[in-house]
Amino acid sequence: PTSSTTLNADSKERTYIMLKPDAVNRRLIGEILSRFEKRGYNVVGLKVLTPSRELAEAHYAEHKERPFFKGLVDFLTSGPVVAIVIEGDNAVATARTMIGVTKPQASAPGTIRGDLSIDVGRNIIHGSDSVESARREIGLWFRPVEIVDFKPVDHAWVYEK
Ligand code: GDP
Ligand code: MG
Repeated sequence: PTSSTTLNADSKERTYIMLKPDAVNRRLIGEILSRFEKRGYNVVGLKVLTPSRELAEAHYAEHKERPFFKGLVDFLTSGPVVAIVIEGDNAVATARTMIGVTKPQASAPGTIRGDLSIDVGRNIIHGSDSVESARREIGLWFRPVEIVDFKPVDHAWVYEK
């Protein structure tokens, strides 16, 4: 059984979420963050920054041969992003479901992209695609001391165990 001070191992899964410059410029930070919070996920890391080219390129390294890579990096470095670490049961996969698919017009209503965006180059949010990617991306964007370890008092009202 989980003690009152220890989190269930599943509910500790973390994912890296990033609100891109379009989301920040459109003042959608609160709208998007609130969806994760209302769902029951915990925000354990959060900051606003304008990424360097080096950081943006490292983040999207898997796409460096793609034709859209330069535009993507130009866009990400064009203004502030919100870097977020979300924690909770199955956080990586559930966040991707909440976000929708890469193309906003193929994203179902109810998803973040499906409700709030139209164009693939302005799809407002990033979410890690696997637990392994999440680990890499969190390490890229955050120092360990910038991530908190806590258990909200409503834990037993979000999780049965
Ligand atoms: P994601 O994991 O759903 O964000 O999608 P990917 O990892 O495949 O691509 C990373 C980001 O690159 C996407 O979120 C888009 O912003 C951008 N992107 C992907 N495919 C295209 C494309 O065909 N054209 C353009 N302009 N941007 C793209
Ligand atoms: Mg991706």
